[in-house]
Amino acid sequence: MKFRDLHIETQRQAPNNARAEGFSLLVRAGYLTRENVPTKLGEYTLDHLRNLSNDPSFIFHLSLPTISNERETFFPIPFGSIEVAHCPSCKYTERLEFALFKKTPLPQEEQLRLEKILTPDCHTIEALANFLNIPKEKTAKALMYTRVADNKFIFVVVRGDMQLSDAKLKQQVGETRPATAEEIDRSGAAAGYASPIGLKDALIVVDDLIPLSQNLVAGANEPGYHLKNTNYERDYSAEIVADLVQAKAGDACFNCGNSLSVISVISLSTRNEYYFENILLALAEIYHDDKGLTFPHQAAPFDVYLMHLPGKEMDTRAKAEEIYSSLQSAGISVLFDDRDERAGVKFNDADLIGCPTRVTVGEKGLKEGMVELKLRKEKENRLVPIDKIIEEISSLK
Ligand SMILES: [Zn+2]
Repeated sequence: MKFRDLHIETQRQAPNNARAEGFSLLVRAGYLTRENVPTKLGEYTLDHLRNLSNDPSFIFHLSLPTISNERETFFPIPFGSIEVAHCPSCKYTERLEFALFKKTPLPQEEQLRLEKILTPDCHTIEALANFLNIPKEKTAKALMYTRVADNKFIFVVVRGDMQLSDAKLKQQVGETRPATAEEIDRSGAAAGYASPIGLKDALIVVDDLIPLSQNLVAGANEPGYHLKNTNYERDYSAEIVADLVQAKAGDACFNCGNSLSVISVISLSTRNEYYFENILLALAEIYHDDKGLTFPHQAAPFDVYLMHLPGKEMDTRAKAEEIYSSLQSAGISVLFDDRDERAGVKFNDADLIGCPTRVTVGEKGLKEGMVELKLRKEKENRLVPIDKIIEEISSLK
């Protein structure tokens, strides 16, 4: 491809909306617009990655530091739109909302007598735990929803120190929406003071830690009052007992017990789909230096950046055209910088765009039948006879 056909426009300045170095360089090198839309060069590169993906192990060959499970491959990146729980020890990896972890029940206790207590202004678990001077683990948190499909009232209970995972709830009961004040009233619950005890027409769903927890404080379904010592089975039961809560950093890995990390990532692939724009971003994030991108051969859209330096006596451009054709005939992919720009501009752009090899056609070399060859990742260049150039480049792949 020729530089001018691709309408490549590089930029000296990093875009001010760049949150990751890779994105910044893709914009500066002319692969993406600042609005994160692929340019012609970007589309060409994405097509190249698409072709590579005919080999099912292609992501592996790109040597990216991915984390994965059997369904999805992720790339850790600051500001990634997805959070995963990851175990550094056994490599367990799961989207945070579905992640499993080892729950630790409090020590088992004898069940105590149910007791109604006055708890003014205790609408939240924090306020309640403070007021009673107990840990949040000793409370039951109530959440009320209505199932979208049939308007069934859903009453959820998790331990007070834990967060409900909406995704896990959805797996159990289907799509829900928050219950309205009227729906809560009709079930016999009281917002801020709710418990599953004595409700009408409610589908009760509890986290699997609840049956293992004794003497929890729960709402009395009467404003201003709570019940001490509520116990699952003795005081109420549930239609569904399941894992409903969201893991957090530091929770124990379900497999090995080590501490889970929570990591921001982007998704590179699922079983049936690749996300090529994310793969390109991951490549840029890993393969760059302070001058620009340094794509490896496996990933680079072009093997060679070919450029000519305008000559005084010789038509360097015509010679470069010749080399362009012969490289292409040899199956080497070439980006031909056919602009009549200053050498410095071209060298900078070559570094930004990041093809693995640069070939420079200049008057001085041509007089001796040579062109200059430089690897993107090396500082030094060397002269190579024009008739050996294909051989040289092929040996680098
Ligand atoms: Zn683990």
